[in-house]
Formats: sequence, C-alpha cells, structure tokens
Amino acid sequence: MTAIPAPADLKQPTLNPNAETVLVKRYLRKDEEGLVKESPTDMFWRVASSIAAEEEKYEKSPWEPEELARTFYDLMIEGVFLPNSPTLMNAGTPLGQLAACFVLPVPDSIEEIFDALKHAALIHKSGGGTGFSFSRLRPAGARVGTTGGIASGPLSFMRIFNTATEQIKQGGVRRGANMGILRVDHPDIIEFIRAKETEGEFNNFNLSVALTQEFMEQVEAGESYDLFDPRDGRIRGRLEAAQVFDLLVNKAWASGDPGIIFLDRINRDNPTPTQGEIEATNPCGEQPLLPYEACNLGSINLSRFVEIGDDGVRTLNTKRLGEIIHLAVRFLDDVIDASIYPLDEIADMVRTNRKIGLGVMGWADALYALGIPYDSDEALALGKEVMKMVQDESRAASAALAKERGPFPAYEESVFGRTGEGPYRNATTTTIAPTGSLSIIAGCSSGIEPCFALSFTRNVLDGEKLVEVNPVFELVVSETVTDEAEKITILDHVRRIGRLHNCPNAPEELLRVFRTAMDVSAKSHLAMQAAFQKYTDNAVSKTVNLPNEATEDDIREIYLEAYRQGVKGVTVYRDGSKTGQVLCTGDGA
Ligand code: ADP
Repeated sequence: MTAIPAPADLKQPTLNPNAETVLVKRYLRKDEEGLVKESPTDMFWRVASSIAAEEEKYEKSPWEPEELARTFYDLMIEGVFLPNSPTLMNAGTPLGQLAACFVLPVPDSIEEIFDALKHAALIHKSGGGTGFSFSRLRPAGARVGTTGGIASGPLSFMRIFNTATEQIKQGGVRRGANMGILRVDHPDIIEFIRAKETEGEFNNFNLSVALTQEFMEQVEAGESYDLFDPRDGRIRGRLEAAQVFDLLVNKAWASGDPGIIFLDRINRDNPTPTQGEIEATNPCGEQPLLPYEACNLGSINLSRFVEIGDDGVRTLNTKRLGEIIHLAVRFLDDVIDASIYPLDEIADMVRTNRKIGLGVMGWADALYALGIPYDSDEALALGKEVMKMVQDESRAASAALAKERGPFPAYEESVFGRTGEGPYRNATTTTIAPTGSLSIIAGCSSGIEPCFALSFTRNVLDGEKLVEVNPVFELVVSETVTDEAEKITILDHVRRIGRLHNCPNAPEELLRVFRTAMDVSAKSHLAMQAAFQKYTDNAVSKTVNLPNEATEDDIREIYLEAYRQGVKGVTVYRDGSKTGQVLCTGDGA
C-alpha cells in the first residue's frame, strides 16, 4: 500500500490544552530518546491516510483514497468522529494493532492457561484490553489427573494474569486492562465475588459475575441452585440464590466490583451462534465477543451536531449525522483490514465476522446545548431516536459495503443470513464505549454518561493536574446571565463544588438543564442505559453513579431494575468506595 503524502493545505486541528497534553503523553509517536516526533496534525494524517489507503484494494470503492483520507482527517480534527485509542496510536506504524477489545479463551489445562497469559501479554503490549471467562477452569480443591495433586482454582490463575498485566506497560503509555468473568454456577463463585475485598487485589481487573435469567428467577423465588464442575457437569454444591445475590450486592456496594452481566441475554443477541458461544466481554463490558475475537470501536461526538437555527433555536442536525455514520462505518471496516492482529486465530476470527462497534460520545454535552435535562422523558426519547438512527444507518452503510466488497464470510450461517436480512459487511455495527481518552481528545462529555461535574480537576499521568470547565456550561452562562456579578458568583460556585447544587441566584433554567452524574437518580442512569441498549447490537458502557450514602438496598434495586429493563450488564460506583479505578477514566490508569 502506498503512503498518501499529506496535502499542503490540511486544516490544523484546534485542540484544548487537556487534549494536547493527552496526545503528547500517550498518542504522538516518540523517538528512541522518548522525544515526541510527530505533531497532532501528523498523527491525524498518519491515521486518516493509512486507513483510507485500504480502499485501494476495493475496485468498486466510490472513493479516491486521497480524498477519503482528507475526509477522515477532517472528521477527526474537528472532533466529530474518533476511532478507539489503539487505532490513533498504531495506525500506519509497524506495530499496526488497531483494536481495543479482545476476548481470549482460558481452557482447563496448564499449557492453555499459560498460552492465554502469553496472548494477553501480546495484546496488552499492542494497546488492547482483554476479557476472559475463567468458568472453564476446574474449581479449587479438584483433583489434577496427571499429577494426583490438588487444583488451585480460577482465582489463583487470575492472580498471575493480574501480575503479568502490571508488568506490561502498553508501549510505555498505559497499563493493560482485563475483564474477569465467572459464571454464577461455578463452585468457586463465592471466592470470586469476594476477590476484591482486600484493597489492591486484582487491581488490573474489572470483575463481572455472569448471571442468567434462571438465576434471577431463583433469587426472586427464594430458591437454591446447583454449582457445576465445568469439566463434567457434575453437581459440586448448592447455594441459596438470594444469599449469593446479597453477597454480590454487598461487595459491589463496598468496592464497585463485581459488576454483573446477563450472559443468556448476550447470547440471545449473538449474531453468529455457529461460530461459538459468547462467554466474556472486553474490560469495560461494552463489547461481548467470541473466544479469539477482537473488535475495533469508534465514536461520533453528538455535541458537534447541535446547530442554531435562524429562529435561534438549537436542534440536532440528523441529516448530517446520517452522512457521518456512513463514513464512520467505512472507516471502521477499513480498520479491520489495516489492523495487524497479534495472533493468527484472532486475525481469522475477526475477518470471519468483521464486527465493528460504532457508538456515540458527547451526549450529555449535546443535551446541555439543547437545553434538555439528562433525567427527563425528553432526553430518553431523543436518546432512542438518535441511537435508532445510528443503528439503522450503520446497518444501511454495512449493507452498502457488502454490495461493494462482499458480506462478512460467516454471513450465510449468521442469524441475518438465515432470515434473509442483509447481506451485511459486519456481524455487528454498534457499541457504546466509555470513550475515557477519546472524549478528552474531542473535548466532550464521555460516552452517554451525564457530566461528572461542571468543572473538575483531572489527574493525568505523573500526577499532573488538568482543570476543565464544561465549555457548553460556560457558553450558556455567558448567553443567559447578563449581570456580571451574578455570572461570577455562578462560575465561582461551580468551580468550587463542580455543580450548581445550592448555588445562590442560579436561574431556574440553568438548574433544570445542567444536571450532573450526582444530581441524576440511579433509576435515570439506568433508564438512559436501557434507552441506548435498545438500539445497540453489542452493549453499552455505563456506570450508575451513586452518592456515598447509598445503601446496599439501593444497589440491590438497581441490579433488579437492570434485569427488568433488559440491559446486558451493569456497573455501579458509589462515590468514594474505591481509591483508584482500573481504567476508562481520564487518569491514565
Ligand atoms: P479510549 O477512549 O481510549 O478509546 P475507552 O475508554 O472507550 O477507550 O475504552 C474502550 C475499550 O478500550 C475498553 O473497554 C477496553 O477494551 C480498551 N481499553 C481502554 N483503556 C485500556 C487500557 N488502559 N488498557 C487496555 N485496554 C484498554
């Protein structure tokens, strides 16, 4: 593939200081001495041109690679669309690994466990995150046939994965991240639920218990259930479902871990069941994948689609959104071809199903700009409308690509092929990522989360601190508050406590619209997650934020409500319950 030279008249990116800092620290290429050797312009062109160059091999592509590279470049520098971090870091470089999400199988033998460990190390080195189900491992105390010894169980092996992760810094920029999953009917489930009781244990893991509808019914009916040895399906114990559920709730209250995922619900939406069963997700839970599958993500910044009409009213430009969705799908499909995968098994799997995960970020900022409170029926309705559009248009784009380049190889055997829907180029098209770093680069609120605060200090690498005031808030204050002294009082208040709560003189309208994560009830957090999940192929990254004084009962109610609302998993975070999170925050964990 020939490199496309940068045109002389490329537009320059306008980046806020936080974005600059993050790019310099983690994204821009460095020489052997660690000195930055590319500018943000170089970086965005490196990414745009190397991805667009993939078009050359498709005869029917309507795009000239150079023209497409320019289009991709503009989308990125304007913060309209960004691919996931590994694509920004590695596109057009010898490493060339572009996907953020991986799932590896962990079969029940020493050789295979350590193969998985090695593969995880390779993935972390390349900037990806890994998810594993440890459910296939024999329980602690079981006999080891070949040696006559006693098995140490999933947790002891997870500890090794955790330590290995600690040692591998991703290209010197960030540590790896893992998702560890155990089925609720595994004999070691109690130890798993308690795994993070000691502060610092399994610090490179997010943990999730895989639940089923049957288990939830047993909780509600007060029944007990069987635990099975994964090797032969023999019953190895029995537990009270409600007691296990209570323990789960208690630990999630104490530390945020473990979260829960509804495995049967995830498999009900598996588009390629003949390719295998889904047993795990990526580290932040938004991307369920088959063993050895990887997926690259990308996010559209909705806040860039808010426009002021001639009548002075702000609306979301859905026509332009539709066009951008088509470009984003083309981008992400090209990323699959451009990516160099760390294992042949992964390359095969990815090229068979060609999953991509297009999602959105800047949702809370868009709502601010539109004057719609996050926790309102209007926001839920608009969320559904927007995500339905992303879903429908991304499928339409994938169908168009299938005509141009052929459907994904497993299409015929997929649920789409069997029902005559499509053909599509990609087995899935939509995922809502946390966009922990991308949202800093684009200067918008992350994913579909409400803003954590209206101003806050962000800790980045090496203890450096960045102060951010929400730009939409500043703009609206300057537009609506005419009295200078009042403006200063409001901004000072927000600078001090991060929200408008108890702010003297704050206009009613500001109080109504500028809600933050802590002003929004748990129920509203979940309702938003469910609204977006309804139109998302994969899953939705969302944290239900709770105040420090939230009780275990609050968490129990959230878990039950999550089940009722049909989401695929849920993560709660009670303010102050954890000193450091695994990742996905701006703190470069
Ligand atoms: P970004 O904004 O950097 O693109 P996200 O916060 O959207 O990333 O996370 C998306 C996915 O990227 C995560 O679910 C995980 O699979 C992967 N990921 C994010 N941060 C890390 C990390 N520090 N190490 C490994 N994988 C990561």
